[in-house]
Amino acid sequence: MTATLTVDLEAFDRNIATVRGRVAPAEVMLVVKNDAYGHGLDAIVDRALSRGIRWFGAFDVATGLRVRDRAGESARIFSWLVFGRGDAADAVNAGLDIGVGDADTLEEVAAAATDRPARVHLKIDTGLHRNGIRPESWDAVLDRAAELATRRAIEVVGVWSHIAEASDADDDAARALYEAALRRAESVLGTLPLRHLAASAASFARADFRYDLVRVGAFCYGIRPAGGPSDADLGIEPIASLDAGVVSVSGSEVRVDIGSADGIPSILAGAIEVSTPDGPRRVRAIGATCMMIDAWPRATAGQAVRIYGRDAASATDLAEAVDTIGEEIAVRISPLIERVYA
Ligand SMILES: *Cc1c(COP(=O)(O)O)cnc(C)c1O
Repeated sequence: MTATLTVDLEAFDRNIATVRGRVAPAEVMLVVKNDAYGHGLDAIVDRALSRGIRWFGAFDVATGLRVRDRAGESARIFSWLVFGRGDAADAVNAGLDIGVGDADTLEEVAAAATDRPARVHLKIDTGLHRNGIRPESWDAVLDRAAELATRRAIEVVGVWSHIAEASDADDDAARALYEAALRRAESVLGTLPLRHLAASAASFARADFRYDLVRVGAFCYGIRPAGGPSDADLGIEPIASLDAGVVSVSGSEVRVDIGSADGIPSILAGAIEVSTPDGPRRVRAIGATCMMIDAWPRATAGQAVRIYGRDAASATDLAEAVDTIGEEIAVRISPLIERVYA
Protein backbone atom coordinates (compact mmCIF):
# COMPACT_ATOMS: atom_id res chain seq x y z
CA MET A 1 0.00 0.00 0.00
CA THR A 2 1.06 3.59 -0.43
CA ALA A 3 0.80 6.01 2.47
CA THR A 4 -2.65 7.53 2.94
CA LEU A 5 -4.22 10.08 5.25
CA THR A 6 -7.80 9.03 5.91
CA VAL A 7 -10.02 11.84 7.16
CA ASP A 8 -13.19 10.83 8.97
CA LEU A 9 -15.68 13.56 8.11
CA GLU A 10 -18.30 12.20 10.50
CA ALA A 11 -15.83 12.56 13.35
CA PHE A 12 -15.24 16.12 12.10
CA ASP A 13 -19.01 16.71 12.32
CA ARG A 14 -19.04 15.43 15.88
CA ASN A 15 -16.14 17.67 16.88
CA ILE A 16 -17.86 20.68 15.36
CA ALA A 17 -21.03 19.84 17.30
CA THR A 18 -19.03 19.48 20.52
CA VAL A 19 -17.23 22.78 19.99
CA ARG A 20 -20.45 24.57 19.15
CA GLY A 21 -22.25 23.15 22.15
CA ARG A 22 -19.44 24.22 24.38
CA VAL A 23 -19.04 27.83 23.20
CA ALA A 24 -22.66 28.78 22.45
CA PRO A 25 -24.00 31.40 22.12
CA ALA A 26 -20.65 32.47 20.66
CA GLU A 27 -20.30 31.47 17.03
CA VAL A 28 -17.53 29.19 15.75
CA MET A 29 -15.05 30.46 13.17
CA LEU A 30 -13.40 27.36 11.73
CA VAL A 31 -9.69 28.07 11.25
CA VAL A 32 -8.46 26.51 7.99
CA LYS A 33 -4.90 27.80 7.71
CA ASN A 34 -2.15 25.40 6.53
CA ASP A 35 -4.50 23.49 4.21
CA ALA A 36 -6.98 23.01 7.05
CA TYR A 37 -4.19 21.76 9.34
CA GLY A 38 -3.17 19.29 6.66
CA HIS A 39 -6.62 17.73 6.25
CA GLY A 40 -7.26 19.28 2.82
CA LEU A 41 -8.90 22.70 2.50
CA ASP A 42 -11.57 21.99 -0.09
CA ALA A 43 -13.07 18.91 1.53
CA ILE A 44 -13.01 20.53 4.97
CA VAL A 45 -14.67 23.73 3.74
CA ASP A 46 -17.38 21.75 1.90
CA ARG A 47 -18.13 19.65 4.94
CA ALA A 48 -18.13 22.59 7.34
CA LEU A 49 -20.56 24.47 5.10
CA SER A 50 -22.87 21.47 5.09
CA ARG A 51 -22.83 21.58 8.91
CA GLY A 52 -23.82 25.24 8.84
CA ILE A 53 -20.43 26.77 9.61
CA ARG A 54 -20.58 30.36 8.39
CA TRP A 55 -17.19 31.72 9.45
CA PHE A 56 -13.78 30.62 8.21
CA GLY A 57 -10.42 31.77 9.55
CA ALA A 58 -8.07 31.82 6.58
CA PHE A 59 -4.86 33.45 7.88
CA ASP A 60 -3.43 34.79 4.57
CA VAL A 61 -5.35 36.38 1.70
CA ALA A 62 -4.47 33.62 -0.79
CA THR A 63 -6.21 31.09 1.45
CA GLY A 64 -9.10 33.52 1.93
CA LEU A 65 -9.59 33.69 -1.84
CA ARG A 66 -9.54 29.90 -2.11
CA VAL A 67 -12.21 29.64 0.58
CA ARG A 68 -14.28 32.31 -1.19
CA ASP A 69 -14.14 30.33 -4.45
CA ARG A 70 -15.19 27.20 -2.67
CA ALA A 71 -17.75 28.58 -0.24
CA GLY A 72 -19.45 31.31 -2.27
CA GLU A 73 -20.60 34.76 -1.30
CA SER A 74 -22.52 33.96 1.86
CA ALA A 75 -19.51 32.70 3.84
CA ARG A 76 -17.67 35.13 6.11
CA ILE A 77 -13.94 34.71 5.69
CA PHE A 78 -11.43 36.26 8.04
CA SER A 79 -7.86 36.86 6.82
CA TRP A 80 -5.42 38.52 9.15
CA LEU A 81 -2.20 38.47 7.18
CA VAL A 82 -2.39 41.17 4.52
CA PHE A 83 0.86 42.07 2.79
CA GLY A 84 0.82 45.35 0.89
CA ARG A 85 -1.54 46.95 -1.59
CA GLY A 86 -2.05 44.01 -3.94
CA ASP A 87 -3.10 41.76 -1.11
CA ALA A 88 -5.34 44.46 0.35
CA ALA A 89 -7.07 44.96 -3.00
CA ASP A 90 -7.62 41.21 -3.41
CA ALA A 91 -9.04 40.96 0.09
CA VAL A 92 -11.43 43.87 -0.38
CA ASN A 93 -12.58 42.70 -3.81
CA ALA A 94 -13.32 39.23 -2.46
CA GLY A 95 -15.30 40.71 0.41
CA LEU A 96 -13.04 39.21 3.06
CA ASP A 97 -13.18 40.30 6.67
CA ILE A 98 -9.74 41.76 7.20
CA GLY A 99 -7.76 41.61 10.42
CA VAL A 100 -5.76 44.83 10.65
CA GLY A 101 -2.78 44.78 12.99
CA ASP A 102 -0.98 48.02 12.15
CA ALA A 103 -1.59 51.56 10.92
CA ASP A 104 -0.01 50.99 7.47
CA THR A 105 -2.28 48.07 6.72
CA LEU A 106 -5.27 50.19 7.72
CA GLU A 107 -4.28 52.74 5.06
CA GLU A 108 -3.69 50.07 2.41
CA VAL A 109 -7.01 48.44 3.07
CA ALA A 110 -8.86 51.76 3.02
CA ALA A 111 -7.14 52.74 -0.24
CA ALA A 112 -8.31 49.47 -1.78
CA ALA A 113 -11.97 50.10 -0.94
CA THR A 114 -14.30 50.29 -3.91
CA ASP A 115 -17.99 51.02 -3.80
CA ARG A 116 -18.23 48.78 -0.78
CA PRO A 117 -16.21 49.67 2.31
CA ALA A 118 -13.48 47.30 3.48
CA ARG A 119 -14.66 45.23 6.44
CA VAL A 120 -12.09 45.65 9.19
CA HIS A 121 -11.40 43.91 12.50
CA LEU A 122 -8.83 45.94 14.43
CA LYS A 123 -6.29 43.88 16.34
CA ILE A 124 -4.94 45.05 19.66
CA ASP A 125 -1.61 43.55 20.73
CA THR A 126 -2.32 41.99 24.12
CA GLY A 127 1.20 40.73 24.72
CA LEU A 128 2.12 38.17 22.06
CA HIS A 129 3.94 40.83 19.99
CA ARG A 130 3.30 38.97 16.75
CA ASN A 131 1.22 41.50 15.03
CA GLY A 132 -1.32 43.81 16.53
CA ILE A 133 -1.62 47.49 17.27
CA ARG A 134 0.34 48.41 20.40
CA PRO A 135 -1.72 49.90 23.24
CA GLU A 136 0.22 53.19 22.98
CA SER A 137 -0.84 53.57 19.32
CA TRP A 138 -4.40 52.36 19.81
CA ASP A 139 -6.11 55.75 20.27
CA ALA A 140 -4.47 57.26 17.19
CA VAL A 141 -5.45 54.28 15.06
CA LEU A 142 -9.04 54.49 16.37
CA ASP A 143 -9.25 58.16 15.41
CA ARG A 144 -7.94 57.41 11.95
CA ALA A 145 -10.34 54.46 11.60
CA ALA A 146 -13.25 56.71 12.55
CA GLU A 147 -12.21 59.17 9.83
CA LEU A 148 -11.94 56.42 7.21
CA ALA A 149 -15.28 55.01 8.31
CA THR A 150 -16.96 58.40 7.88
CA ARG A 151 -15.66 58.44 4.30
CA ARG A 152 -17.09 54.92 3.81
CA ALA A 153 -13.64 53.54 2.94
CA ILE A 154 -13.84 51.07 5.81
CA GLU A 155 -16.38 49.65 8.16
CA VAL A 156 -14.99 48.58 11.52
CA VAL A 157 -16.97 45.51 12.56
CA GLY A 158 -14.82 44.13 15.33
CA VAL A 159 -11.90 44.24 17.72
CA TRP A 160 -9.85 41.09 18.24
CA SER A 161 -6.64 39.72 19.62
CA HIS A 162 -4.76 36.44 19.97
CA ILE A 163 -3.55 35.07 23.29
CA ALA A 164 -0.93 32.55 24.32
CA GLU A 165 -3.27 30.09 26.11
CA ALA A 166 -0.26 28.93 28.09
CA SER A 167 -1.27 30.11 31.57
CA ASP A 168 -4.47 31.50 33.05
CA ALA A 169 -2.60 34.41 34.62
CA ASP A 170 -1.10 35.56 31.30
CA ASP A 171 -4.42 35.10 29.57
CA ASP A 172 -6.19 37.13 32.27
CA ALA A 173 -3.67 39.96 31.81
CA ALA A 174 -4.19 39.81 28.05
CA ARG A 175 -7.95 39.91 28.46
CA ALA A 176 -7.72 42.98 30.69
CA LEU A 177 -5.79 44.77 27.92
CA TYR A 178 -8.33 43.56 25.39
CA GLU A 179 -11.23 44.85 27.49
CA ALA A 180 -9.64 48.27 27.87
CA ALA A 181 -8.98 48.49 24.13
CA LEU A 182 -12.52 47.38 23.36
CA ARG A 183 -14.06 50.04 25.60
CA ARG A 184 -11.96 52.74 23.91
CA ALA A 185 -12.89 51.43 20.48
CA GLU A 186 -16.60 51.39 21.26
CA SER A 187 -16.45 54.91 22.63
CA VAL A 188 -14.92 56.13 19.34
CA LEU A 189 -16.59 53.83 16.80
CA GLY A 190 -19.85 52.75 18.44
CA THR A 191 -20.94 49.21 19.21
CA LEU A 192 -18.80 46.53 17.54
CA PRO A 193 -20.68 43.31 16.83
CA LEU A 194 -17.68 41.01 16.33
CA ARG A 195 -15.47 40.72 19.37
CA HIS A 196 -13.11 37.73 19.34
CA LEU A 197 -10.19 36.63 21.47
CA ALA A 198 -10.12 32.86 22.05
CA ALA A 199 -8.75 29.92 20.05
CA SER A 200 -9.43 26.26 20.94
CA ALA A 201 -8.10 26.04 24.48
CA ALA A 202 -9.50 29.27 25.93
CA SER A 203 -12.81 28.88 24.10
CA PHE A 204 -13.32 25.58 25.92
CA ALA A 205 -11.94 26.42 29.31
CA ARG A 206 -12.88 30.05 29.84
CA ALA A 207 -16.43 31.28 29.32
CA ASP A 208 -15.57 34.98 29.63
CA PHE A 209 -13.10 34.70 26.72
CA ARG A 210 -15.76 33.69 24.21
CA TYR A 211 -17.41 37.01 23.30
CA ASP A 212 -19.16 36.85 19.89
CA LEU A 213 -16.87 34.52 17.94
CA VAL A 214 -14.24 31.94 18.78
CA ARG A 215 -11.52 31.03 16.28
CA VAL A 216 -11.14 27.26 16.53
CA GLY A 217 -8.84 25.05 14.51
CA ALA A 218 -7.22 22.29 16.57
CA PHE A 219 -10.28 21.03 18.46
CA CYS A 220 -12.43 20.79 15.33
CA TYR A 221 -9.75 18.51 13.84
CA GLY A 222 -9.57 16.57 17.08
CA ILE A 223 -6.08 17.72 18.00
CA ARG A 224 -5.82 18.09 21.76
CA PRO A 225 -3.28 20.42 23.38
CA ALA A 226 0.09 18.88 24.29
CA GLY A 227 0.33 18.41 28.04
CA GLY A 228 -3.34 19.32 28.45
CA PRO A 229 -6.64 17.52 28.97
CA SER A 230 -7.34 14.22 27.17
CA ASP A 231 -9.54 13.76 24.11
CA ALA A 232 -12.14 12.14 26.34
CA ASP A 233 -12.11 15.06 28.79
CA LEU A 234 -12.58 17.48 25.93
CA GLY A 235 -15.13 15.34 24.11
CA ILE A 236 -13.23 15.49 20.82
CA GLU A 237 -11.69 12.78 18.64
CA PRO A 238 -8.87 12.86 16.08
CA ILE A 239 -10.32 12.94 12.57
CA ALA A 240 -7.21 11.88 10.63
CA SER A 241 -5.42 8.54 10.49
CA LEU A 242 -2.07 8.21 8.74
CA ASP A 243 -1.24 4.77 7.35
CA ALA A 244 1.77 3.41 5.50
CA GLY A 245 2.67 0.01 4.13
CA VAL A 246 5.31 -2.59 4.92
CA VAL A 247 7.79 -2.79 2.02
CA SER A 248 10.10 -5.51 3.31
CA VAL A 249 11.04 -7.52 6.38
CA SER A 250 14.62 -8.39 7.31
CA GLY A 251 15.16 -10.23 10.58
CA SER A 252 14.15 -8.04 13.48
CA GLU A 253 13.40 -5.05 11.31
CA VAL A 254 10.50 -3.97 9.11
CA ARG A 255 10.74 -1.28 6.47
CA VAL A 256 7.68 0.98 6.08
CA ASP A 257 7.18 3.28 3.11
CA ILE A 258 6.91 6.67 4.79
CA GLY A 259 9.69 9.00 5.90
CA SER A 260 10.86 12.51 6.51
CA ALA A 261 10.25 13.57 2.89
CA ASP A 262 6.58 12.73 3.53
CA GLY A 263 6.57 14.98 6.57
CA ILE A 264 7.45 12.59 9.40
CA PRO A 265 10.00 14.50 11.53
CA SER A 266 13.15 12.36 11.77
CA ILE A 267 13.49 13.46 15.40
CA LEU A 268 10.66 11.01 16.20
CA ALA A 269 13.02 8.06 15.60
CA GLY A 270 13.53 6.17 18.84
CA ALA A 271 10.87 8.26 20.57
CA ILE A 272 7.58 6.81 19.32
CA GLU A 273 5.70 3.61 18.62
CA VAL A 274 3.42 2.98 15.66
CA SER A 275 0.50 0.58 15.46
CA THR A 276 1.04 -2.72 13.59
CA PRO A 277 -1.20 -5.77 13.01
CA ASP A 278 0.51 -7.21 16.12
CA GLY A 279 0.26 -4.14 18.34
CA PRO A 280 2.56 -1.19 18.95
CA ARG A 281 6.15 -1.33 17.69
CA ARG A 282 9.06 1.03 18.26
CA VAL A 283 10.29 3.22 15.42
CA ARG A 284 14.06 2.68 15.16
CA ALA A 285 15.05 5.02 12.38
CA ILE A 286 13.45 7.46 9.95
CA GLY A 287 14.98 8.04 6.52
CA ALA A 288 13.80 10.27 3.71
CA THR A 289 11.34 7.83 2.17
CA CYS A 290 11.00 5.03 4.71
CA MET A 291 11.17 4.17 8.38
CA MET A 292 12.51 1.08 10.14
CA ILE A 293 10.45 -0.39 12.96
CA ASP A 294 10.71 -3.42 15.25
CA ALA A 295 9.39 -6.56 13.58
CA TRP A 296 6.53 -8.81 14.68
CA PRO A 297 5.82 -12.47 13.96
CA ARG A 298 4.50 -13.00 10.43
CA ALA A 299 5.24 -9.46 9.31
CA THR A 300 4.89 -9.34 5.52
CA ALA A 301 5.14 -6.82 2.74
CA GLY A 302 1.86 -5.07 2.04
CA GLN A 303 0.59 -4.99 5.64
CA ALA A 304 -0.57 -1.62 6.91
CA VAL A 305 1.01 0.27 9.77
CA ARG A 306 -0.80 3.15 11.40
CA ILE A 307 1.51 6.04 12.24
CA TYR A 308 -1.18 7.95 14.13
CA GLY A 309 -4.95 8.17 14.33
CA ARG A 310 -7.90 6.07 15.38
CA ASP A 311 -6.99 3.06 17.58
CA ALA A 312 -3.38 4.26 17.59
CA ALA A 313 -1.34 7.09 19.06
CA SER A 314 -2.69 10.55 18.20
CA ALA A 315 -0.75 13.32 16.49
CA THR A 316 -0.45 14.99 19.89
CA ASP A 317 0.85 11.76 21.48
CA LEU A 318 3.66 11.73 18.89
CA ALA A 319 4.28 15.43 19.37
CA GLU A 320 4.59 15.06 23.13
CA ALA A 321 7.41 12.55 22.68
CA VAL A 322 9.54 15.35 21.23
CA ASP A 323 8.12 18.33 23.13
CA THR A 324 6.09 19.88 20.38
CA ILE A 325 2.36 20.21 19.60
CA GLY A 326 0.03 18.02 17.56
CA GLU A 327 -0.48 20.71 14.92
CA GLU A 328 3.24 20.52 14.11
CA ILE A 329 2.80 16.87 13.17
CA ALA A 330 -0.50 17.30 11.29
CA VAL A 331 0.45 20.28 9.11
CA ARG A 332 3.76 18.77 8.00
CA ILE A 333 2.25 15.71 6.34
CA SER A 334 3.16 16.16 2.69
CA PRO A 335 0.38 17.35 0.38
CA LEU A 336 1.57 14.57 -1.95
CA ILE A 337 0.20 11.96 0.44
CA GLU A 338 -3.24 11.05 -0.75
CA ARG A 339 -6.14 12.29 1.37
CA VAL A 340 -9.08 9.91 1.51
CA TYR A 341 -12.38 11.11 2.93
CA ALA A 342 -14.58 8.63 4.69
C1 LIG B 1 -4.16 29.28 14.40
C2 LIG B 1 -4.96 30.36 15.00
C3 LIG B 1 -6.15 30.08 15.69
C4 LIG B 1 -6.64 28.67 15.96
O1 LIG B 1 -5.90 28.11 17.01
P1 LIG B 1 -6.25 26.64 17.54
O2 LIG B 1 -5.51 26.52 18.81
O3 LIG B 1 -5.80 25.70 16.48
O4 LIG B 1 -7.72 26.58 17.73
C5 LIG B 1 -6.90 31.15 16.16
N1 LIG B 1 -6.50 32.41 15.96
C6 LIG B 1 -5.36 32.72 15.32
C7 LIG B 1 -4.97 34.14 15.16
C8 LIG B 1 -4.55 31.71 14.83
O5 LIG B 1 -3.41 32.02 14.20
